[in-house]
Amino acid sequence: MLVTMKEILDRANEDNYAVAAPNINTELDTRACIEAAEELHAPIILDVNNKSNPDISLLGHIAAELAYQSPVPIAINLDHGGEMSHTIKAFKGQFTSIMVDRSTLPYEENVRETKLAVEMAHSIGISVEAELGHVGQGNNYAHDGVNALTDPKEAARFIKETGVDCLAVAIGTAHGAYAGTPHIDFERLIAIKEATGHFPLVLHGGSGTGDENLAKACTLGINKVNLSNDLAKGACQAAKAYDFTGNKAYDLWKVLKGGYKAALIEKMKLFGCEGKAWSEPPKGLTVAEITGREN
Ligand SMILES: [Zn+2]
Repeated sequence: MLVTMKEILDRANEDNYAVAAPNINTELDTRACIEAAEELHAPIILDVNNKSNPDISLLGHIAAELAYQSPVPIAINLDHGGEMSHTIKAFKGQFTSIMVDRSTLPYEENVRETKLAVEMAHSIGISVEAELGHVGQGNNYAHDGVNALTDPKEAARFIKETGVDCLAVAIGTAHGAYAGTPHIDFERLIAIKEATGHFPLVLHGGSGTGDENLAKACTLGINKVNLSNDLAKGACQAAKAYDFTGNKAYDLWKVLKGGYKAALIEKMKLFGCEGKAWSEPPKGLTVAEITGREN
């Protein structure tokens, strides 16, 4: 069933676990993610990034169609929405959440632009994720891993001033592969959770962060973990291990899917979301009120 990201994250926050947010690029990996969620009876958030698919509205419609057919709660979220056009495309594509990433702008501009997006999205029942501090790139980890980390007091102020539904925080993770060993600032995470009155928090750059670090972060207040690299790596490893000898026809995605799904399931178990799916009708606006369609 298609639900808003707010509903998924409010429940995760209340019960102190995190939900996986894999980056989807095509119908095939979307199906693999939903299968993984169904096997674990877990909610899932499908993250769609404008850079990885040239037609995010089309991918949104495909994901929504598959979500309507599934018994587990599924949200479709715009990942790192930059330009206004990304947001409009998400609205057109049956997304139930958008991320507004203005984290490289000065604080006041980040607040102004995020607040505007919140007003638009909330008026049609769509939830909003924003970022404060800045999660950088793993290949520049020596710099990005220690700079622009989220300030707890500023986070509390930002949430109040913008009205966002969840907040991505910079606590030492980075996007892509890490150059060096990731150091997660757990003290900072605890302080942010406290200062924000136990608000739903998001961790970007979950891949390569280390299972122990991820599991710990999920018990200390992270409720959504974005994943991309580790899932692609799982798929590539499955291809590498595949027995290509003999006379057989290859189905590329079938070869890749086993590794992709296994990597995702492993992470979901780590985050504590196994068995957390529900079937009651949504709180707040129904999906029919947001998308015009029934689950
Ligand atoms: Zn990210």
